[in-house]
Amino acid sequence: MSETVSLKNAQYYIDLENAYGAHNYHPLPVVLDKGEGVYVWDVEGKKYYDFLSAYSAVNQGHSHPKIVDALVSQAKKLALTSRAFYNSKLGEYEKKITSLFGFDKVLPMNSGAEAVETAVKLARKWSYEVKGISENSAKIIVCENNFHGRTTTIVSFSNDEDASKNYGPFTPGFVKIPYNDINALEEVLKNDASNIAAFLVEPIQGEAGVYVPDEGYLKATSDLCKKYNVLFIADEVQTGIARTGKLIACHHENVQPDILVLGKAISGGMYPVSAVLANDNIMHVIQPGQHGSTFGGNPIACAVAMAALDVVEDEHLSERAEELGKLFRLEIEKLIAKTDLITKVRGKGLLNAILINDTPESSTAWNLCLNLKENGLLAKPTHGNIIRLAPPLVITEEQLLECVSIIEKTVLEYKKN
Ligand SMILES: *Cc1c(COP(=O)(O)O)cnc(C)c1O
Repeated sequence: MSETVSLKNAQYYIDLENAYGAHNYHPLPVVLDKGEGVYVWDVEGKKYYDFLSAYSAVNQGHSHPKIVDALVSQAKKLALTSRAFYNSKLGEYEKKITSLFGFDKVLPMNSGAEAVETAVKLARKWSYEVKGISENSAKIIVCENNFHGRTTTIVSFSNDEDASKNYGPFTPGFVKIPYNDINALEEVLKNDASNIAAFLVEPIQGEAGVYVPDEGYLKATSDLCKKYNVLFIADEVQTGIARTGKLIACHHENVQPDILVLGKAISGGMYPVSAVLANDNIMHVIQPGQHGSTFGGNPIACAVAMAALDVVEDEHLSERAEELGKLFRLEIEKLIAKTDLITKVRGKGLLNAILINDTPESSTAWNLCLNLKENGLLAKPTHGNIIRLAPPLVITEEQLLECVSIIEKTVLEYKKN
């Protein structure tokens, strides 16, 4: 391939996707072609700051050389064996990830949704075989406005109409309570603990709009679960791997979940890798043939994940996210004092969102994102009037401040039409 092959314009690629792809997404009109660190470039060569990081999968930055090296060298050596045989990467990866997160065992999967499904199956099986719930009657408590993925079981307990409508019949066995409501959890546990297997929760509700629960919520709910012999399952697919300023968000309250669900940034976004972590007293209920995945734990996934986890430690990404997140919210607070367009900034570490002063049905947040794009920064609205702002954690202070000025300029120049 020649270096001089000129790329077609953006509309060409947009038209192709529109013509041949299912319309299950509504992307911002930018066609990305290259990424490096905190930057991405479109097909016309324009450079942007990435403030979505593929929904926090690219915490380590785009095309991190160490992760690329791991991918390439492992791909040349051995890609996939299935779990019918042992492979020379899986055990080392399992040892690394379990010791890093403090669990006896890991069950490797690929996507976040698969890992959540795995956690649901594991909790149910534990509840029948260890806790002693009678067959087919276990319930799992979930929170309103949750996002745990897209499978039929997971959308069965979503209250987002778009995610669930006309995908029924739905999987039974889930009880929904309000998020950030300790009493609501206690109420259900008091009345029905003997039929409850687990409480499944996001430490911060990312997709719902970066809802941070009150301080103490995770500790109190995890203590309640212990008291009633119910498993505390943390879905840290989005909040995990240093995003919120700790390795996992539960660590902000010194909580060790019974089951930890990870995905997205385990691989730095290089490859689909997810994981379910638990101790032996729980994980032992799954025996050969009772759960699995052709690609789960494959040598490339393991090599990539080990490199990606090394980057998190070597480059102190948790500490960076913690410090830069504080700076970012402080700077955005200053902007809020100068404008009526933003009403609030919230978040932890480098998982943040701004609330736009308009209805969720309005196109103000979308239009602002279009203007941010023109000014060289990519972000996307979630739930209409909320814009999530989550750059790769390798961003420098200088780059972050440049981004703040892009956001400031865009907001102050914005004209409602
Ligand atoms: C993204 C996400 C998932 C689903 O992950 P996929 O890899 O898209 O299946 C599950 N839970 C949370 C909290 C997420 O943010």
